[in-house]
Amino acid sequence: MSEGYLSGSVAVVTGASGGLGAHFVQLLADNGAAVALTARRVDKIQAQAGALTKAGVRAIAVRMDVADAASIGPILDQIQGELGPMNILVNNAGVGGEGLALNVSVEDFDAAFAVNARGTFFAAREAARRMIAAGIEGRILNIASIASHTVLPGLSAYCGSKAAMAMLTRSMAREWARRGIAVNALCPGYIETAINDTWWPTEGGQRQLKDFPRRRLMDASDLDAAFMMLVGPAARAMTGSIVTVDDGQSLPGGG
Ligand code: NAP
Repeated sequence: MSEGYLSGSVAVVTGASGGLGAHFVQLLADNGAAVALTARRVDKIQAQAGALTKAGVRAIAVRMDVADAASIGPILDQIQGELGPMNILVNNAGVGGEGLALNVSVEDFDAAFAVNARGTFFAAREAARRMIAAGIEGRILNIASIASHTVLPGLSAYCGSKAAMAMLTRSMAREWARRGIAVNALCPGYIETAINDTWWPTEGGQRQLKDFPRRRLMDASDLDAAFMMLVGPAARAMTGSIVTVDDGQSLPGGG
């Protein structure tokens, strides 16, 4: 990939206010895309968009809560009004939905599905409607998880919502294949971010880490090659793919 690999692209990233989302924003910008950073914490996305703008990147920050499905379409229209027609959507917004199945609250269960599954679906649909109307060969990349296909103990609501994301990815890919839109999912293994950083120092976290085949967490940059493949021209013949990049963490058997 070169500096201009994505030049001419307009990318929208959800959940861009930290962690992997902020990393993906930088990667898109480094490869020449204009980027709309969206999330609920506006101060965070404004700070990154401001730094990118100073560096000569076309970048804007717009508040978007993906759990508010009705708001997504008008926000995408606003973004397109400022940056031009979008051709890339990165559905990165996600919440943990922690709790043993015996105890998980209705609120946490609903939040996991409202953001991870429903938010992904309606953001993808609103983006696809606009790409199809503009005759654009779009790329929609859903940041799922190894939880889409692997049981992560104590995370049943998260796993269910991420499995839903994987099947929604394949369903949307099928429906929009002939419209030129690629819909794929990237399933990362564990990377330390705000979603899990209080877990790793605990006894349970240390035990889990020692059971990973490589006894380590991944770095966000370990996702870069797969991410770039799936948002760019190289994904011309990839749609409905569920791509796992997990350092072997979801392979069976500890130790
Ligand atoms: P993170 O630092 O907690 O980031 C989560 C992001 O989602 C935040 O920017 C947050 O922004 C946003 N978000 C949450 N609720 C939202 C809502 N209702 N509307 C819009 N944005 C919302 O965690 P992360 O690790 O970077 O997670 C990013 C994605 O990667 C998630 O989908 C996660 O499931 C997935 N993932 C992470 C790992 C990992 O090990 N870190 C592994 C596999 C998959 P605001 O609070 O500002 O809205």
